[in-house]
Amino acid sequence: MKIPVSTWKGAFLLVSVFLFAFHPASAQKPPRKKTVFVIADGIPADVLEKVSTPSMDAIAKRGKYLRAFVGGAKNTYSETPTISAVGYNSLLTGTWANKHNVWDNDIAAPNYHYPTIFRLYKEQYPAGKIAVYSSWLDNCTRLVGDGLPQTGNLHVDYHADGFELDTLRFPHDTQRDFMHRIDETVVDAAVNGIRTQAPDLTWVYLEYTDDMGHMYGDSEPFYKAVGMLDAQMGRLWSAIRYREQAFGEEWLLVITTDHGRSEKDGKGHGGQSDRQRSTWMVTSLANINAYPNFRKPGIVDIFPTIARFMQIQVPDAVRRETDGIPLTGPVSLIDMQVNAFQNKLDIEWTPLNPADKSTVKIWISNSNQYKTGGKDDYTLAAEVPASQRHASIPWANHPEFTKIVLEGVDNSLNRWVLPPVAKQ
Ligand SMILES: [Zn+2]
Repeated sequence: MKIPVSTWKGAFLLVSVFLFAFHPASAQKPPRKKTVFVIADGIPADVLEKVSTPSMDAIAKRGKYLRAFVGGAKNTYSETPTISAVGYNSLLTGTWANKHNVWDNDIAAPNYHYPTIFRLYKEQYPAGKIAVYSSWLDNCTRLVGDGLPQTGNLHVDYHADGFELDTLRFPHDTQRDFMHRIDETVVDAAVNGIRTQAPDLTWVYLEYTDDMGHMYGDSEPFYKAVGMLDAQMGRLWSAIRYREQAFGEEWLLVITTDHGRSEKDGKGHGGQSDRQRSTWMVTSLANINAYPNFRKPGIVDIFPTIARFMQIQVPDAVRRETDGIPLTGPVSLIDMQVNAFQNKLDIEWTPLNPADKSTVKIWISNSNQYKTGGKDDYTLAAEVPASQRHASIPWANHPEFTKIVLEGVDNSLNRWVLPPVAKQ
């Protein structure tokens, strides 16, 4: 990954946006929007930045390269293991593991009450098409929950997966070359699907990089696998640009990873060290807002970002649970903190725009019925100017569970307060 340092390119961009705004074409019907998100397994930011990745550099040239994080808020109720399926489900649901309830790769009991981006999309656009191209079958069958009653029998329209179970076509070798061949097969299917069927919302999952990380750690075979991934991303990007040029569609591509790797040798992951939490995003999105200029984005931010781009209306109940902040469009609030002490909740936030004249509504619920499919009753505890950055709310009797939602004009933030002895 080459990190761009140019600032005067921004001036040209501003001029072209200005010209576009007055172009008569802007009066035409808006182009159909489509999204592809890719999870390439287990690549810390420092490794992506070290390896030459010309294809991802080209994608970031239209959009952006961002350092990011996984793992929830360290040492709090939302701390989330830096384990693969846990990270995928944080992307899919826009929540940390305390909500989506996938704690490891066994996926024992996902909480389907926190809907995936696929489900939100299909609820609003039933005729739209969704796709999963994956080197691991469980992504479609268990995390997205294709055909499960718990997901309302969500139907994944196109999928290519399960190759890891086909040991005749992909005999398993100790060097795990078969996994590279599976990734190639998955990318072939995704490229073909994008070019010919152009699903509206697509997930591509690739595993080989993590296999090489586990086997060899920080060394050439792992870096080589990242180079192979880059070539695969080049093929995906070509397919997307073909659709844009031939069909006038507007596509969003987001490439990310599910966790970093250990400081020691790059072989392990799962813990909360800086490098294990260290991830990245490469996106084609050109109009990224100011939020990542101030804070490192999290994997949970991809869910509300796709929702904004795809014009998916997020229901109020889901918005109040979402742990991510959109990377496109207006954002009112970042940085929510809650300190419970004595008989007060001390709540802090930062308005993204310091000159913000809007207000923040502070909603409190002492139930968590949402978790089991019910509805929470929120009380409006206060409404204060966003620029106040702080509010103190009475918190008598120290209830077992308190959920606080800060509702700004353009986004909401939320935190839980649990009694110290009953964390999780
Ligand atoms: Zn992983």
